Amino acid sequence: MEELRFIPNNINEECGVFGVFNCENASELAYYGLHALQHRGQEGCGIATTDGSDIYRERGEGLVTEIFSESKLAKLKGDCAIGHVRYSTAGGSGIDNVQPFLFRHYTGDFSLCHNGNIVNSRGLKLMLERQGSIFQSSSDTEILAHLIKMDFRKDRLAAIVEALNMIEGAYAFLIMTPKRVYICRDKNGLRPLSIGTLNGGYVFSSETCAFEAIGARFLRDVEPGELVIFERDKPEFTSIIFSYGNSHKMCSMEYIYFARPDSDIEGTNVHSFRKECGRIMARRFPVEADVVIGAPDSSTSAAIGYSEESGIPYEMGLIKNKYVGRTFIQPSQEMREKGVRLKLTPVRSLVSGKRVILIDDSIVRGTTSKRIIRLLKEAGASEVHVRIASPPMRHPCFYGIDTSTYEELISARNNVDEVCKIIEADSLNFLQEDALLEAANRPDLCLACFNGSYPTFLYQTKQELNTEGKF
Ligand code: AMP
Ligand code: SF4
Repeated sequence: MEELRFIPNNINEECGVFGVFNCENASELAYYGLHALQHRGQEGCGIATTDGSDIYRERGEGLVTEIFSESKLAKLKGDCAIGHVRYSTAGGSGIDNVQPFLFRHYTGDFSLCHNGNIVNSRGLKLMLERQGSIFQSSSDTEILAHLIKMDFRKDRLAAIVEALNMIEGAYAFLIMTPKRVYICRDKNGLRPLSIGTLNGGYVFSSETCAFEAIGARFLRDVEPGELVIFERDKPEFTSIIFSYGNSHKMCSMEYIYFARPDSDIEGTNVHSFRKECGRIMARRFPVEADVVIGAPDSSTSAAIGYSEESGIPYEMGLIKNKYVGRTFIQPSQEMREKGVRLKLTPVRSLVSGKRVILIDDSIVRGTTSKRIIRLLKEAGASEVHVRIASPPMRHPCFYGIDTSTYEELISARNNVDEVCKIIEADSLNFLQEDALLEAANRPDLCLACFNGSYPTFLYQTKQELNTEGKF
């Protein structure tokens, strides 16, 4: 078979962003906000704050609780903050890539952080380097800063709007100057970003679960192609739509896997979405069985939904050791397999001699499902029927979610029957795209990793994509 290859424009990032405007103890709030977003990235984190005159920043490689201490937070003075938790795959690690970035310029300092991926980063970077820009990191986030300062005689807002219109892809950006905080989302609304209120000030977050964690109230979501500006000494924020032809193509994987179940994404609670997917699967793919089990933890909601709808009892048939990181983060296949074993144990007394329905949110490489099915069978399960709460993942993501390359995606190379055989299941079904829209109660979502219909141009040559004519 011809080699399938995916060349990312740059490193892939999942990440989460959190910001504060006009609140006392901004650094502490950012710390708790980022802690609530830790599931979005465990590799590095950082916070930048401002007191109106200078910008202060601390960042490091590790978890929020490892990087920040009380003394470090005390150094981060001011009532405004932006913060970031970072997830990166191979090639993208190192302190230089940990955000927020901080830029010193005689026309004014600023800091920025980003969740997502810029698909035209290579071309933009080349253009900027030819004009004299020198990049400090390999992250494409830095491109926005160079674009903003490309013509620094321009009014700051006009420069930001022009820069945002030059970049294409998925993004939620937070930009902070001593006087203002700007927050924005890409024109397709691929990455989430919400605004909350707290004691007369504002907070911003990739996920609403962080608002609950700090006692803030959800105000509204940032619209696709919207730039919201918070200015010192101005009680009301202002907003402009910086791009036209916008769409609402929120990443479906945020609902399926990535976001925390207690977050609401554009009006739909993530747990309720997953539970509804489970219910739909029970109606569409029934099977006679004794217990329903969810692959911990992201599939628990869907498993509860399947159980409620089918009347088959839900059991905690698999227990996750919370102190092992997500298996996906392990770099090699061999390590991943070891990770899965460390992470999950079956409850023999609950599965022995039973016909099990195993619910998982997605199959990427197939490693997790295969491993779990073996664990359940070794623990005495007589049958394992697998129900996946999303369609077969056949295409890579170019928008900042690490869903892997064509060659690694098991469903890019195999049909459902073949995948069923490979993972050694007794039966296998994947939930269809229409069910995701129904469960999210919305007309549109990005489903590109399932159907290859990317909402943006990809800026990859056919040779680079090397997808056997799939594009
Ligand atoms: P795999 O073993 O490669 O098939 O991975 C599938 C498992 O990884 C599923 O159980 C998901 O919960 C989880 N998963 C799906 N997408 C991602 C992602 N982008 N990053 C990390 N984990 C993921
Ligand atoms: Fe999300 Fe998939 Fe679209 Fe990427 S391709 S943004 S993972 S739905």
